[in-house]
Amino acid sequence: MNFFFRHRTALGLISLALAAAATFCFCLCSLPQAAAKSFQLTIVIDAGHGGVDGGVTGTVTGEKESDINLAVSRMLRTKFEEAGFCVVETRPTQSGLYGLATAGFKKRDMNRRAEIIKKSAPCAVISVHQNFFSRTDRRGAQVFYRAGFEPSRLLAGRIQSCLNGMPECVKKGQILAGDYFILNCSDIPSVIVECGFLSNPADEALLVTDAYREKLAAAIAEGVISFLAADAGTE
Ligand SMILES: [Zn+2]
Repeated sequence: MNFFFRHRTALGLISLALAAAATFCFCLCSLPQAAAKSFQLTIVIDAGHGGVDGGVTGTVTGEKESDINLAVSRMLRTKFEEAGFCVVETRPTQSGLYGLATAGFKKRDMNRRAEIIKKSAPCAVISVHQNFFSRTDRRGAQVFYRAGFEPSRLLAGRIQSCLNGMPECVKKGQILAGDYFILNCSDIPSVIVECGFLSNPADEALLVTDAYREKLAAAIAEGVISFLAADAGTE
């Protein structure tokens, strides 16, 4: 039985709540609360890297990707919980998920993330990362989806559209297909959100601030909720 069939009732209620929100101009995140809570729809938030794996590093500030990922993920958690969702974080602390940092730690870390995703049976998986490129002028948020998996592509499109709507996001990105473990490890709609480029000084200056991280989290949450409402078929 596929995910959408199993969760059709809950998604339908959420979409109705969203329709009411649009009609009465209420906050997008407040109205689906009752519907989501009663069915305990779960979102998995996956803060990329952690522990000895810091990911990429800001060229100006030296800030680690793993720390930015965690900060944005915690803000996302708050936003989804406020909207009534159950939230599972694969990496709720700065530590990695691999146990001891011995040979094969990265594989153990990724396998543990996949286990958490499968056990949680979420309606969406959001993996949070920061980007880096050899050319410093590349910037902007970029969402990746699994090629050939339509729910992943649709979710990515909704989130990218919300990120592109942020005034600070001066370079508007397009969704890209990516062959990544976290996108391939389940048949749950999953995306990787690369929030910006730590190789670009302007992006980095934004990404190290709580204010910008809050805006990123709000845009991502809005995109996910919009995807769930559209998928329930009443948008
Ligand atoms: Zn990363």
